Amino acid sequence: MSDGTRLRMSNNEFDAEARKVHSERCDYTMTMYGGKNEIITYGCEFHGFIEQKAGEYLSGYGCTLCSRNGTIIRQHDTIESFIAKSLELKGDCFTYERTV
Ligand SMILES: [Zn+2]
Repeated sequence: MSDGTRLRMSNNEFDAEARKVHSERCDYTMTMYGGKNEIITYGCEFHGFIEQKAGEYLSGYGCTLCSRNGTIIRQHDTIESFIAKSLELKGDCFTYERTV
């Protein structure tokens, strides 16, 4: 049953596939997937809505602005240090409250 399956992915399938390829959090609520050669619109959490060929996006090319700036690499640092910082802050508050 594998012959002649010219399946066109649905938006949901595109969403799942895109998340496999791109680990960064992107917004696909505006994405209308119409085939690999069609332009899709998705939301980059740093640069807003980006237009790109669906096929390119699924091949691993993400937001061109992100890859140009290397923001994706820095993003992981930021998230980790952000969590560390907010934990520190909470610890501080707690200590202060107990002190007073
Ligand atoms: Zn971006």
